[in-house]
Amino acid sequence: MFFFYAELIHVWLLSLHGWLTVTVKIMSIYLAALVVFSYLAWIKCIYYRHRRTMVKSLKHVLNSSSSRESNGSDFRALIVTAHPDDECMFFAPTIIRLVELNASVHLLCLSKGNYYNQGAQRQQELLNSCATLGIPASSITILDHKKLPDDPKAEWNISVVCSAIVQQIRAHSFNMVLTFDGRGVSGHANHIAIHKAVRHLAASGQVTDDCCFLSLVTVGLLRKYISFLELPISWLLPSCLCCIIGSQGYKQAKAAMLCHRSQLLWFRYLYITFSRYMFVNTFQMIPQGPKNLKIY
Ligand SMILES: [Zn+2]
Repeated sequence: MFFFYAELIHVWLLSLHGWLTVTVKIMSIYLAALVVFSYLAWIKCIYYRHRRTMVKSLKHVLNSSSSRESNGSDFRALIVTAHPDDECMFFAPTIIRLVELNASVHLLCLSKGNYYNQGAQRQQELLNSCATLGIPASSITILDHKKLPDDPKAEWNISVVCSAIVQQIRAHSFNMVLTFDGRGVSGHANHIAIHKAVRHLAASGQVTDDCCFLSLVTVGLLRKYISFLELPISWLLPSCLCCIIGSQGYKQAKAAMLCHRSQLLWFRYLYITFSRYMFVNTFQMIPQGPKNLKIY
């Protein structure tokens, strides 16, 4: 009799263990799904909040105290890049959002991208890409200066870059200039040279105070290639401007990337799929004033 009850308890304990194992597995799956859905919902909330607050952020960047409603037409932005394709590889979220807000957006590309003697083709690709992003050909300036060759080993002449940017600012009264930061996103020497020039301009007082200078934040490798999943990190970390696009904007950015047919090697497709710069840009203000002046 005793053995019968012992066997019964043993069987019961085994079935309880099996039941608990299945329950724990189901709970783990539910918990993982809950975490994933919550994270995606958070991303969506950030995106909608950004859409509501971007004009306010831009006004804050420009230090505008005006309380009147603005639809974005008060913002006149100059994007300064080094090569055809920089505009969509790195700045697409910014350009798309500014164009959506009816801001005036111009592009100054400081080379034709002639490293492999494809300058003429790449120039046309740039025009097509900009048309896709919403920048008309009349708002694009492409330089072809012998002191600014498309070459990662070339040391760009900072004063030539400065004078090209100043000329644009004075001709179109831009109130914001957006370019690379000191790490140039990809580390390309031409990108970094533009940052040095803009930092010099901001410090030297060659342009009026109503023009601000913003640098695109370079992020580490892991953050760079986790696509839109990186968005909460960008949102939480301090920056003076954050530009985010959704699925429609992404399609536009991808179409612009595909305009650069001469550059479409296999790793470009990986970039289009995984780079967070296809979804989000964050900027830091470049400090103005003589105490930040460096002589080049
Ligand atoms: Zn570049």
